[in-house]
Amino acid sequence: MPYIGDEEIAEVIDSLRNGFLTAGPKVKIFEAQFADFIGTKHAIAVNSCTAALELALAALDIGPGDEVIVPTLTFCATANVVEHRRATTVLVDVGEDLQIDAEAVERAISHKTRAVIPVHYGGQACDLKSVLQLANRKGVAVIQDAAHSVGTEYDQRKIGADGLVTAFSFYPSKNMTTGEGGMLTTSDNRLAERLRVLSLHGIRRDSASKEIGPWLYEIYEPGYKAKMTDLQASIGIHQLRRLEGFISRRREIAQIYSDAFKNLPELVLPVDLPGRPHAYHLYTVRIVAERCRLQRDTFIQQLKKAGIGSSVHFIPLHRHPYYRDKYEYPATSFPVAEAFFPKILSLPLYPKMSDGDVLRVISAVRDIICAAQNARHCSSVQRRTS
Ligand SMILES: *Cc1c(COP(=O)(O)O)cnc(C)c1O
Repeated sequence: MPYIGDEEIAEVIDSLRNGFLTAGPKVKIFEAQFADFIGTKHAIAVNSCTAALELALAALDIGPGDEVIVPTLTFCATANVVEHRRATTVLVDVGEDLQIDAEAVERAISHKTRAVIPVHYGGQACDLKSVLQLANRKGVAVIQDAAHSVGTEYDQRKIGADGLVTAFSFYPSKNMTTGEGGMLTTSDNRLAERLRVLSLHGIRRDSASKEIGPWLYEIYEPGYKAKMTDLQASIGIHQLRRLEGFISRRREIAQIYSDAFKNLPELVLPVDLPGRPHAYHLYTVRIVAERCRLQRDTFIQQLKKAGIGSSVHFIPLHRHPYYRDKYEYPATSFPVAEAFFPKILSLPLYPKMSDGDVLRVISAVRDIICAAQNARHCSSVQRRTS
């Protein structure tokens, strides 16, 4: 549930009146402000993170016969784009932090590997240093999927400041929104130029078109239609100003959850890791099977009965029929994702939540766990968490 303020609304109306309905001056402003915020040279605004990821693959000439490594615990878009390029998706396991496992990446690298797409899951950075060093050593490109992680920091630098290229999402559920929308960041001048050209049909203009007119352009390769519009940038410019506030409210809510649940041995909670403060796009908890009889699916249903929406991020990609049937993974390929998937759920967390909303979630979670345990334990849970 996004927060949209009066400034966003007024800015969209301004664009409707001034007539720039496609990419215009506001897209340029948004790109410049975003690049500045992240601490990178170039930001290229596009119509989704999915498009951003596909453009990155295209700009690196990744296609048939190439292998791209993707964590299995992600949204389908991360791998679908590899399939769109007719390249081969190589799924790898995650670690206990739910982030891509650098050792699994190393084992998966072959002479055909061209890229790895680490996901900064849930708003927390993955072990980026290990991934970048490994990729560097092996001559493999790193395309970061930062859909959850606009504003997330790693070693006190913003995600998107380091590495070759990073893709962000401004889908309404993400840390900031433009309705639909996405952004690419890179500090590589040539890559930035190629991404720009590919994002609009492959149109290239040179000095001759400056003299003769904008109708004069050339196509060297068939590009995509993926540009952001000024209507979207109107929203994005103001959302970007609010982003740090959004993230601090997310962290505040997460802290209230974590304080309330810390004495519940039935749940493993998300935590900040050294150099990797959590931006809490997601608050994903894991049920400890040995301590709790409650099934995850039942938990979600009971929360729903209490009027609380929770979800699962994500069904591992190797379990989806397309990927399962195409690649026929051995049963032992994804031990952590297999063990964790049936136990994870994400509790509601968005900046607009009031403290009252948060407390309602807390008491529902407590009641449901309590009811699933025996009475003696139940009273101890209530005592310790009240
Ligand atoms: C949301 C999401 C995407 C896709 O973002 P869109 O902007 O909707 O295209 C990609 N990867 C991950 C991990 C996501 O959660």
